Amino acid sequence: MAIIGKFYYCSCCRKIISSLQELYFIESNSFKGFCSEKCIESFYQPIIDFLESKEKMLRDKMGLSVEPCLKLLDDVQYIENRLDGLPEEMWKIKNDLNEVLYALIFHEIDKDFGKMFFIVICNFYNKEPSFIHLATVTTSMELAQEFRVGDIVENTHEGTDVREQEENNLGGTEDKLMNKEFISLLEHKKANILADIIEKRSSEDIPFEDFYKYDSCMKESIESPDEIYSFKDDDGDLIYNYIKAFEDETKSYFYFTLCIVLADDENENENENENENGSFNIAPILSFPSIDGVFCKYFKKGTLVAGKIKN
Ligand SMILES: [Zn+2]
Repeated sequence: MAIIGKFYYCSCCRKIISSLQELYFIESNSFKGFCSEKCIESFYQPIIDFLESKEKMLRDKMGLSVEPCLKLLDDVQYIENRLDGLPEEMWKIKNDLNEVLYALIFHEIDKDFGKMFFIVICNFYNKEPSFIHLATVTTSMELAQEFRVGDIVENTHEGTDVREQEENNLGGTEDKLMNKEFISLLEHKKANILADIIEKRSSEDIPFEDFYKYDSCMKESIESPDEIYSFKDDDGDLIYNYIKAFEDETKSYFYFTLCIVLADDENENENENENENGSFNIAPILSFPSIDGVFCKYFKKGTLVAGKIKN
């Protein structure tokens, strides 16, 4: 009998682990495995402290130590919601040992703070940000600029490098592999619509920070809308607005989903029943709820479209 078989150990506490499946990893292509989340946190705490002190130093230097928008970070849900989306910019920071960190920069328009950046420094594992070393928000271009380090990742999905672990299982991610141009087009339209919403909505309406609670309404709104309006936006693109009324225990509200109609060269038409005008492909730009009748009336703009649209 051999003295030892295959074994592994936690990179933090060195506990011996007999099976690879019991180790936690936070990055692809790394030998650093951990026995528990606690050990991951302990292991990386000095890195977190290091990055936080760097940020603090920069903020002090730029006079941004007490930026009001920083309070957004108190809400963990805020951070999680942002990380569900794709960042506008992704930077790969690699040292000479090939250790990699990513800086993700999300361009935001906040109802209180206007144009701002949500920024995280993190690892990636299995297609997702796996461990956040630093998260911050700022309205300062100058501070955001400091996070543009390393190499810009052209396609923010970076499927082949970061997320190769489940290459054969990309599934929904395929949808995200829309080219960068299209993503920035959507972001541009989203920013315009958001600006419009911020201008028109009343303070009594459902607060922005609660919008995520209504995310489940989107699917239903598109699949069985009460009304669909179409209009051309400032760029001359055709926008469809799917509107559906909902009710919960306390109130009734409308849910709006604004979508861009895609040029449709290779769309396989499965000829959906009563649609005489042929089929369209659409991509959602932005969706939101409202309880405010005046606002809802304003947002029901354009032409009421008859018939059902394939999505
Ligand atoms: Zn451990």
